[in-house]
Amino acid sequence: MATSPERTKRPLTEPSRRLEAVPAYMFAELERRVAEKRKAGIDVISLGIGDPDRPTYPEIVAAMQTAVADPANHRYPSNRGREEFRNSCAGFYAERFGVDIDPETEVMPALGAKECIYHLCSAFLDPGDVALASDPGYPVYTGGPALAGAAATLMPLRAELGFAPDLDGIPVDDLERARLMFLNYPNNPTGAIAPEGLFERAVELAREHEILVVHDNAYSETTYEGYVAPSFLATPGAKEVGVEVFSLSKGFNMTGWRCAAVLGNPDAIASYWRLKTNVDSGMFEALQMAGVAALAGPRGPIEEMNVIYARRRDLLVDALREIGVDVEPPKGTIYVWAPVPDGHTSVSFAELVLEEAAVVVSPGSMYGPSGEGFFRISLTTHDERIAEAVTRLREHLAPGA
Ligand SMILES: *Cc1c(COP(=O)(O)O)cnc(C)c1O
Repeated sequence: MATSPERTKRPLTEPSRRLEAVPAYMFAELERRVAEKRKAGIDVISLGIGDPDRPTYPEIVAAMQTAVADPANHRYPSNRGREEFRNSCAGFYAERFGVDIDPETEVMPALGAKECIYHLCSAFLDPGDVALASDPGYPVYTGGPALAGAAATLMPLRAELGFAPDLDGIPVDDLERARLMFLNYPNNPTGAIAPEGLFERAVELAREHEILVVHDNAYSETTYEGYVAPSFLATPGAKEVGVEVFSLSKGFNMTGWRCAAVLGNPDAIASYWRLKTNVDSGMFEALQMAGVAALAGPRGPIEEMNVIYARRRDLLVDALREIGVDVEPPKGTIYVWAPVPDGHTSVSFAELVLEEAAVVVSPGSMYGPSGEGFFRISLTTHDERIAEAVTRLREHLAPGA
């Protein structure tokens, strides 16, 4: 009896080993404290999450309203995407980035950058393979490889290199095992912009070691002081070795819509397509038409958002400097990334800010070991709440307060 095969099976509710390999979420204690404070009636201001507070631009909403009323859009879409959507992505890339995209073979829709990054891991990684992941970085760069049964090797982003990875310091063994490399500029969480020469060096390494570069372009439209972020695909040779995931979530206030595209190397896109035909049935065609309206729409609303974010950024940077936090205003993204004061860890400082000011900031260590010693503040909270948070920081955390 004891040797029946059933006895050797794992309990029915136990998740797969791949799921168990996903790094555990380690900030339960902080969340518990936030919940406790709110329950006690304390008005906690969260500057933790990066999720635009302003509505999607009206012309995009109007395009969706029209498209959703058309029964032609109610049936299964194809994973390949509508011609209009692919054409408008290609048009946007030509005009905005000077990048030539073949709408037939070099672009397809993705149900958000998160989905796309995860599925690129499934499409390209086997057990034993490695993905090179920015550290600190967007959590899917490590979770995606783990769920594909592969491994992530961290590339620390070095402050002294402008929060770039030291590509020339990656051990050859890791380069030999690596099949993917994740880069992301303007960068979450550090707010850094792509340092000169980084993309060029990535293309060289990718060629030399057969690595597909995945550039996560979530923030190219959210920049300040006249800085215009490039596409990775504008780098000579990039299309031979890489793809770019372009998300409409942040720049167009569309996080809830799940609208993105993957562009670049046609063979890589064909593999993603092949995988996706086994996973989902494409992007709602009405949403694709909303995406067209976004990409072909006026830039005014984007510029207005950037003015709003820059104002919030400056308020926060001033307040942080007053409480002794030395911070440079970022040129892009919706985040301020700052070093914690001496004597603190990322978590102890986040806890202090919560206790003293009832403000939530994200511990930098949430985004990887190299985030230790930093914290992240998001700019996606209403102006009045940001102003209130700033007042509280000054009142409760300034030296001598
Ligand atoms: C917000 C964010 C995403 C998520 O984009 P979606 O298109 O909403 O899935 C991806 N990458 C980075 C770096 C982000 O900050």
